Amino acid sequence: METGTLLIFDEVQCGFGRTGRIWAFQHYNVEPDILVAGKAVGGGYPVSFVVTCSEVAESLEIGDHGTTYGGNPVACVAVSAAINVLLSENVPEQAATKGDLLSKKLTELIKDMKLNFKVKGLGLMLGVDFGRNPEEEAIRLKDYGVLAVRAGETVLRYLPPYMISKEDIEHIIDALEKLLVGKV
Ligand SMILES: *Cc1c(COP(=O)(O)O)cnc(C)c1O
Repeated sequence: METGTLLIFDEVQCGFGRTGRIWAFQHYNVEPDILVAGKAVGGGYPVSFVVTCSEVAESLEIGDHGTTYGGNPVACVAVSAAINVLLSENVPEQAATKGDLLSKKLTELIKDMKLNFKVKGLGLMLGVDFGRNPEEEAIRLKDYGVLAVRAGETVLRYLPPYMISKEDIEHIIDALEKLLVGKV
């Protein structure tokens, strides 16, 4: 706002606990003027929302921002319930703890295998940068019951559900290890 530039955070994927804080912007010393959220905010119910600072909100006239189902009561109840669970079950903290464990184990595996890969990300939004296209591994991981996708050109991305257990994390590590040493 100081420079007249609007800072907009798309927190559809990284928001609502995913990175270990409720919102990803909380990791940085900034406050967005506009924030958009969706996906996890409805706990499975399709809904998204936009939050703005008061200056932006005051500039909106009726009809400027429209949506077919916006603010429908069922969606609002779903968001309310999801917020209750997010807070009462400490979902951001769980994402931080489980994400740190997964990140640590991925880093150890890479080190043990003497690979020049890098682990990056925050909370349960993690990637392994292969330094090359990881598409083949992403596809073959399905044979081990792990769903991961390529992100960008060189990153294998893990975005596990918040309810992931320690055993599931071990499974992810075993799967990647087996695949990388070529055992089927
Ligand atoms: C899914 C997604 C969107 C689109 O959200 P809709 O609710 O389908 O409009 C926008 N940004 C990111 C980062 C997403 O992952």
